[in-house]
Amino acid sequence: MGVERKWFCTCGGTPLELEIPTTPVSEDEVDEPVCRRCGASPSSDPRKTLYYQDVETRED
Ligand SMILES: [Zn+2]
Repeated sequence: MGVERKWFCTCGGTPLELEIPTTPVSEDEVDEPVCRRCGASPSSDPRKTLYYQDVETRED
C-alpha cells in the first residue's frame, strides 16, 4: 500500500489532471506531469494554479 500524488491545474477554471508527457523534453528532465492546457508543471508553476492530492493506493 502506498500513496500516489496526483497533480491538478485550475488554469481553465476547472481542475485538469496533469499528465506525464509521452515525449521527454530532454534527457536531463525527470519525468514530471505537465498541464495540457497551459504547460505548467510542479517545478514551473508561475501562476500558482497547481495543487495536488495524495491518493492511497491499495494492493489487494
Ligand atoms: Zn494549466
